[in-house]
Amino acid sequence: RKNTPALDAFWMPFTANRQFKAAPRMLVAAHGMHYTADDGRQVLDGTAGLWCVNAGHGRRGIAQAVERQLNSLDFAPTFQMGHPIAFEFAEALAEIAPGGPAAGLDRVFFTGSGSESVDTALKIALAYQRAIGQGTRTRLIGRERGYHGVGFGGISVGGIVSNRRAFPQIPGTDHLRHTHDPARNAFTKGQPEHGADLADDLDRLVALHGAETIAACIVEPVAGSTGVLIPPKGYLERLRAACDRHGILLIFDEVISGFGRLGAPFATDFFGVVPDLVTTAKGLTNGTIPMGAVFAKRSVHDALMQGPDGIELFHGYTYSGHPVACAAGLATLEVYREEGLLTRAADLADDWAAAIHDLRGRARVTDIRTIGLIAGIELESRPDAPGKRAYEVFVDCFERGLLIRVTGDIIALSPPLILERAQIGEIVGILGDAIDRVA
Ligand code: PMP
Repeated sequence: RKNTPALDAFWMPFTANRQFKAAPRMLVAAHGMHYTADDGRQVLDGTAGLWCVNAGHGRRGIAQAVERQLNSLDFAPTFQMGHPIAFEFAEALAEIAPGGPAAGLDRVFFTGSGSESVDTALKIALAYQRAIGQGTRTRLIGRERGYHGVGFGGISVGGIVSNRRAFPQIPGTDHLRHTHDPARNAFTKGQPEHGADLADDLDRLVALHGAETIAACIVEPVAGSTGVLIPPKGYLERLRAACDRHGILLIFDEVISGFGRLGAPFATDFFGVVPDLVTTAKGLTNGTIPMGAVFAKRSVHDALMQGPDGIELFHGYTYSGHPVACAAGLATLEVYREEGLLTRAADLADDWAAAIHDLRGRARVTDIRTIGLIAGIELESRPDAPGKRAYEVFVDCFERGLLIRVTGDIIALSPPLILERAQIGEIVGILGDAIDRVA
């Protein structure tokens, strides 16, 4: 394949573009568990698109709902007008809200993406603290190796150090140490037994900065994009307790873990730990029409609605509650419900973990971590070229019909939740062969 002017015209900065230019790979169609490449090959989707196509590709019900909505009400200015489907979708989400009815996370704010959900949740947290007379709390805490999108809020609380170096930061942010300790927790299935005390790192930050300066702490319950880092048993509980002790709001970024990835509707349900705000996107619309949603506790919402302290709150997007995205989301929830997809990963998780952990012992595999329908497989880096080994595995898998995701030298897998048991073997077979060849 040759680079044409058209191929030069589309660009993304940094690695995505460099990899694409080296060997353009095109996906031209998708159905169910498979992509079709431009040479006609079927490629098994080992990553649900980008952690988002949880119900598989090409769902008729979603396409029909989108078409119907486009033909009836294609857009409405949400800043001034309501429209029924936004309320209907918010209500449907409130019914399955993270943590169930007792958690009270049933106030829904619509955004256009995961990054927008993160910025929205951070702003809600800051505004809430001010609304309850805690206006000195302006500091935001994230965690090393967390990923929260690419808005200025998201990169500031995010744990990707190169991103933080590349751009100016929101002042006052700081970061917890991350959860996975490879020396003690290597080759874990599910949650590691050791390391819950890492949550006490919040006490260190409180001692350093003063609780009265900290508004909120945001973590991914399971860090996805940075290599599948699973919290040790008890970690999230301790973090919740530390936040309560110090009057700090806890935000779970469930952009990846939401909508069934772990085997429960949300990580909040899976771990049984209730945060104050939950960010979502991706699986919300099965990756079809871009959309995000923030779930807020009723108490947080109500304090905000009592009125700000003389500072007018302005927040919302042109596409907040976009009718077409809401239609896609409602149809997505219907598919999840009809096919039991929000809990299907729980049925597959043991077989998934067993098959993936069979890769232990292959050359250069230094760690394997699985939870729900996620896996992280870590390869030894070549000292002269970090990331190159996993990238070669990625190329080899793609050529042989499997799409995986790599980040540095970590391979991440997160197939659609409609995955058949037999396809687990197919994924592990192709991947294992690729690892052998590249070793
Ligand atoms: N938060 C998390 C946990 C994510 O994984 C991502 C995307 N991978 C984002 C936020 C950002 O979402 P988006 O790319 O839709 O802005």
